[in-house]
This record gives sequence, structure tokens and C-alpha cells, in this order.
Amino acid sequence: MDFALTEEQGLLRDTMREFVSREISPEAGELDRLSQFPSRAIQRLAELGLLGMAIPEAFGGAGLDTLGSAVAIEEIARGSASLAVTVSVTNSVCAGPIVHFGNEDQRRRYLPRLAKGEILGGFSLTEPDSGSDAAHLRTRASLEGDTYLLTGDKAWVSNVQVGHVFVVLAATRPEQGSHGLTAFLVERDFPGFSFGKVEDKMGLRSSLTGSLELQDCRVPVANRLGEEGQGFKIAMATLDGARIGIAAQAVGIARGALQESIAFARQRKAFGRPICQFQAIQFMLADMATAIDAARLLVHRAAHLRDRGDVQFTKEASMAKLFATEMVNRVAYQAVQIHGAYGYSREYPVERYYRDARVTTIYEGTSEIQRLVIARRLLESV
Ligand SMILES: Cc1cc2nc3c(=O)[nH]c(=O)nc-3n(C[C@H](O)[C@H](O)[C@H](O)COP(=O)(O)OP(=O)(O)OC[C@H]3O[C@@H](n4cnc5c(N)ncnc54)[C@H](O)[C@@H]3O)c2cc1C
Repeated sequence: MDFALTEEQGLLRDTMREFVSREISPEAGELDRLSQFPSRAIQRLAELGLLGMAIPEAFGGAGLDTLGSAVAIEEIARGSASLAVTVSVTNSVCAGPIVHFGNEDQRRRYLPRLAKGEILGGFSLTEPDSGSDAAHLRTRASLEGDTYLLTGDKAWVSNVQVGHVFVVLAATRPEQGSHGLTAFLVERDFPGFSFGKVEDKMGLRSSLTGSLELQDCRVPVANRLGEEGQGFKIAMATLDGARIGIAAQAVGIARGALQESIAFARQRKAFGRPICQFQAIQFMLADMATAIDAARLLVHRAAHLRDRGDVQFTKEASMAKLFATEMVNRVAYQAVQIHGAYGYSREYPVERYYRDARVTTIYEGTSEIQRLVIARRLLESV
């Protein structure tokens, strides 16, 4: 069993680590305070050719596999979880389904622009009344000639306002439940499309999340992704892969929290000595580091299985997501504890890590849903 990254993956990690330390981390706190989108960082990632990290090279992307993408997302999240989710969403849940389920025309129309950073993408499954219960959507799509008319409200969409194209799930045959859903590539300029409210979030404050309002939104048949009725399958397959990215994001946030905690514990004095000399603090640091490594191993295993291409990885992706996202919440809690009152101040990054960590057990399937997925697979195999 080989736990080492390849030379290429190691180089990618080191390049990203250096880039994040130089260009992302220094501005992340300020952007968070101002709730400002990280446009400059997005631009710089595009210049490095890494904005479209998971898009095949044939379409202008970096062509990273799942493991390579996980390595890159972990590094980005260490500096800015908001930037990590923005990049992860445009790659894994927008470009991803276009790569895997789109036709040649759709790939040519969208992937090169997504790869270059000319446009950003999003994915819109959730609605005000349905999150985990993703099969019961109220948004309807009906075919008139060569155009679908989509009507409904979509909620909690990452990359609103800045996104240009969204993979939108709607019911073409509502009576058929999950078998009646269809996926569409919906552009912000299509008639009947508008952005609704932007959420005022606890964390990830420099990423944009909000609603889409579709009122007889005209989507050409050429923008249907896959066949009618395949939408649920496309959405679930997309989320299987994307969960590995969210798990990697969690590992990155946790690493940032640990790094800050080590630095703080070395310089903060109490009772005449640095607090890192207290065993209570050392044990917290040891537990944090151990949990981070364990989570990363699960992330890399799931990514490795996905990259093999010939094995099921749904259970392992859910395990990685469940473990890593619960882990980052514990680690961020301990990081604040180690910082004492300073951990409760916006002046120290651990306060941001603590808020950013919270959402990871919620989006792209809550922890409860991951447990359901894992348990279902376990019971099937007995
Ligand atoms: C910052 C952010 C960004 C997001 N980005 C996107 C995006 O880009 N695209 C998108 O489509 N969605 C996005 N979401 C939505 C996210 O995926 C949903 O919030 C998530 O799936 C949970 O759905 P819900 O919030 O409706 O909770 P609900 O489904 O209402 O769940 C509420 C609670 O009940 C529990 N629960 C529900 N069903 C069960 C069950 N069967 N068994 C046990 N427990 C259950 C849940 O685990 C949870 O604890 C985003 C959310 C956030 C916060």
C-alpha cells in the first residue's frame, strides 16, 4: 500500500501551498469581514490554469483527477474556505456533469469558458421546501416546441450573482418522483431567469449563496443535460464525486485551524510559560493533527476509488464527507479553545475557521444523509 502522492501531485500541492500562503491567506480575513467575493484570487487561479482544475485538458482545463483536485482544494481551503467552495462548485457540480453527461456540443459551448474563468458555474437542486428530500421538487419544466419552460424557486445556490451557467434540476414528470426529474443547463441571460435574495450567512462570507427565480424561463432543448427523467441520477452521481471535494475542503480548514493553534500556543504565555508546554494544550494539538490525518486518508481513498473508474465509491465518498466535516467542527472548536478569548475575536483567523467549518456538515448532503447512504450500502452488502 502506497500512501505517497506521485511526484506530480506533490508538486501541485507544494505550488498551491506556496500560492495560497502568498496570495490567498493574507486577504481572506478582510474579504470575509467585508463579505467580498474573491475576484482577484479567482483571476489569479485562472491565470495559473487551475480554475478549471477538473476540466479535461482537451477543453482547456488542468485535467486533474479526483485526487489531484482534492489536494488542490485542501490547500485552497486552508487559506479561504469561501474560495475553495467557489472553485469546487464550478468544477465538480457544474463542469463535472457537463463532462460526464453532456453531449459534445454542450461540452464545447461551456467547458473552455469555465476552464479559462471567463464564466463561473453553479448547481441548483435545493428548493425552499426541499433539501435532503431532493426527489420532490416543485420547479416544473414543460416542453413547448424546441424550448422548455421552467418555473419555480430554487434556493441556496452557490455562485449566484457571479455564476453564468447553472445545472438546474426540475420536474418534467412530477408524478414519477425521482424518475421524473430532468437536468438543464440554464444561463443567467435566458428570458425568465433572475437572481433572488443573497443569503446573509454565518460563514463562507466571501462566497455568494442565494436563490434563483425561474418564471417561464426559456431553456432550449439543446440545453437539456442527458435525457428526460435522468436528472436525479445525474444529480446523485454528481454529488457522489463532489462530496470528496467538500471533505477535502474540511481537511483544509482544519489544517489552517491547527497551524494557527500551534503558532498561538508557542507564543501565548500563562503562568510564566508558553501554553504549548501544558499537556492539556499538547493533547488537543495531538488529537487535532491525528483527526486531520485520518480524514485526509479517507478523502484520498475515496478519490483513488473514483479515479480507478471501475469500482463503486459512493459509500467511501460519504464516509470521507461525514468524517472530515464532523472532524473539522471539533478541530475548529479546539482551535478557538486554545486561543482563549482571542479565539473569540475577529482579529484571529480561527474565528473564521470556526464559522466556515459549520456548513460542511450541512451542504452537499447533511451528516444524517451521509449516514443513511453509508448504512444503505452496508445493509445491501450483507
Ligand atoms: C452555504 C450553502 C451553500 C449551498 N449550496 C448549494 C448549491 O450550490 N446547490 C444546491 O442545490 N444546494 C445548496 N445548498 C443547500 C444544501 O445542500 C441543503 O441545505 C442540504 O441538502 C440540506 O437541506 P435543507 O437545508 O433543506 O435541510 P432539510 O433537508 O430540511 O433537513 C433539516 C434537518 O433534518 C435532517 N433530515 C432530513 N431528512 C432526514 C432523514 N431522512 N433522516 C434523518 N434526518 C433527516 C437533516 O439532516 C437536517 O438535520 C447550500 C447550502 C448552504 C448552507
